[in-house]
Amino acid sequence: MIESGKCQCGDISYSFDRDNLISTHHCHCSDCQRSTGSGKATILFVAKKHIEIEGTLKFYEVKGSSGSHVRRGFCENCGSAILSYAKEIPHIQYIKAGSLNDSSWVKVDSNFFTDSAHDWNKPDETIKSFKGNPSIISNIKTLFKSF
Ligand SMILES: [Zn+2]
Ligand SMILES: [Zn+2]
Repeated sequence: MIESGKCQCGDISYSFDRDNLISTHHCHCSDCQRSTGSGKATILFVAKKHIEIEGTLKFYEVKGSSGSHVRRGFCENCGSAILSYAKEIPHIQYIKAGSLNDSSWVKVDSNFFTDSAHDWNKPDETIKSFKGNPSIISNIKTLFKSF
């Protein structure tokens, strides 16, 4: 099943096969809050090689709490956040679920950084939660061995 998404103005669009989805998360970190202007970002982990992008993203780099460098990609024209990734592990990208053309199928696996969640946007208690950084890097290294 091919899924697609785009920015608000349409300069950037992307697609990937849903079969290649690794996992889905709510991230309540303060960088995601600032970047989305909301209580959290909902992100889909997909290997870079499985994402086809049309258009050129602009990236803004932020130093993450774990010392990694998170590069946040957005449309330079309309400002829509599309995807981000850690510079140290560029093979996995985190697509913003809100940019999907159809996100009705999305099922979230876990919450990240619940320590910085706000009362007005509380973490979903029905799924697994990580207080801070869920050591994405070691998880992904494990995942990559299975590719
Ligand atoms: Zn745009
Ligand atoms: Zn975050």
